[in-house]
Amino acid sequence: MRNTTQRTEILKFLRSKRHHCSAVQIYDAVREIIPNISLGTVYRNLGNLLEQGEIVSVEAVDKCIYYDGFTEDHAHFVCSGCKEIYDFPIEPENRSSIHKAGFEVASERVIYYGKCAKCKSADK
Ligand SMILES: [Zn+2]
Ligand SMILES: [Zn+2]
Repeated sequence: MRNTTQRTEILKFLRSKRHHCSAVQIYDAVREIIPNISLGTVYRNLGNLLEQGEIVSVEAVDKCIYYDGFTEDHAHFVCSGCKEIYDFPIEPENRSSIHKAGFEVASERVIYYGKCAKCKSADK
């Protein structure tokens, strides 16, 4: 199996989900198409895709890394209750002080940690 096929299938899977997936979840899904793929190969391809900016990664509360095929700049909110990862748009105001200093932003990674609305109301 050619490397490009593995890479394409991994990317296709991540792009088809509006969801953040762990390497093992990706491995399980891609294995249905490429049965002889190994978890190591999945990790290696994920590393390449990250380097090339084709996907982004998010570190969750449990220190697990989740991958996201949606690469347009967006902020993540990681809930410590349900462990869900939520996407939020980045407010452009956040960057204005950086621009004012004459810096140029190439990429942005914003991760908030806390409790989502559902878990917060369940606490009460
Ligand atoms: Zn939650
Ligand atoms: Zn995301």
